[in-house]
Amino acid sequence: MIIVMRPGATPQQVEHVRQMVRDAGLKDHPIVGTDLTVVAVIGDDRKKDKGAFEQAPGVDRVMPVLAPYKMAALETRKRKTLVRVGEGDLCVFGGQEVPVVAGPCSVEGEQAIIDVAHAIKHAGAAALRGGAFKPRTNPYSFQGYGEDGLKMLAAARAETGLPIITEVLTPTDVDLVASYADCLQIGTRNSQNFKLLEACGRQPKPVLLKRGMSMTIDEFLQAAEYILSEGNPNVILCERGIRTFEDHTRNTLSLSTIPELHYRTHLPVVSDPSHGTGHARLVADMSRASIAAGADGLLLEVHQDPEHAMTDGAQSITPEALAKLMPTLVRVAEAVDRRCGSATASRARAAMTNS
Ligand code: PEP
Ligand code: MN
Repeated sequence: MIIVMRPGATPQQVEHVRQMVRDAGLKDHPIVGTDLTVVAVIGDDRKKDKGAFEQAPGVDRVMPVLAPYKMAALETRKRKTLVRVGEGDLCVFGGQEVPVVAGPCSVEGEQAIIDVAHAIKHAGAAALRGGAFKPRTNPYSFQGYGEDGLKMLAAARAETGLPIITEVLTPTDVDLVASYADCLQIGTRNSQNFKLLEACGRQPKPVLLKRGMSMTIDEFLQAAEYILSEGNPNVILCERGIRTFEDHTRNTLSLSTIPELHYRTHLPVVSDPSHGTGHARLVADMSRASIAAGADGLLLEVHQDPEHAMTDGAQSITPEALAKLMPTLVRVAEAVDRRCGSATASRARAAMTNS
């Protein structure tokens, strides 16, 4: 349920309504806009007495939100949410710019991650990805370097200034990963690990939530709701492909999900054509298609020697391929009234003013 306050409602009236909500055993979530304040009411529908709220001073109207994901729903907040990763404006999701996040599937060593970070930055990427804790199907496969891997990522950030996005696998690791990362990734296999979602919701770093490989859009948004309802508004949704009968790709990258999510939610939506296809040769076309479909960002696996990558080499492109891809992304972005790769231009400007 959403309580829309009248234009000019006083702070006391808003506070009174919030108190009524809390007295009813529900959670209040005020959203203060330039013209209007609305109070989103979260909790058991049976406790919601619409009539009582309509009577309160300063209330304009009370509207039920039909979606089971109240805070993620577009009705709750008509404008898109901007999610900033790292300091400054170089990597912001949900605005005009379409940031490209690139890097290896796994962090494989300090020099390797520093080298690839320099290369992707040069190509125009806005952030560095890399897994330190890896969710592996087989327990005998490489599981990632853990905290050492996080330290290597931090070293690459110190060298390049690129913010880092890395996966967290368990609720007990959330504080550790958040102490290094600029953005926490929740992987497809953990997308309905509700305790992990809640733990990520209780810390302040932005969260990139991947779609579960067999998740409906409704379930995806309810997973996001777990994070939002714990108090963290900075959620980025990531379409990374789903399991279908089709086997020419590792997953089926469901591009129509992107505009559908924009229709339902204010949260930014990024696309991962690497996991979405499983084949490096498909990544460039599906990256362009993702931006054309309205993606607010891309997550790309990039490795300097894909043939010898410890994980996901088959779907990793080289930094040279990324450098060739970027100018085409810039043009596709322009065609759909977006921008891509501006981080490179603003870095170049900053370098000129600093020198
Ligand atoms: C990854 O980004 O390397 C990863 C493990 O992704 P997903 O959870 O989508 O499989
Ligand atoms: Mn991977």
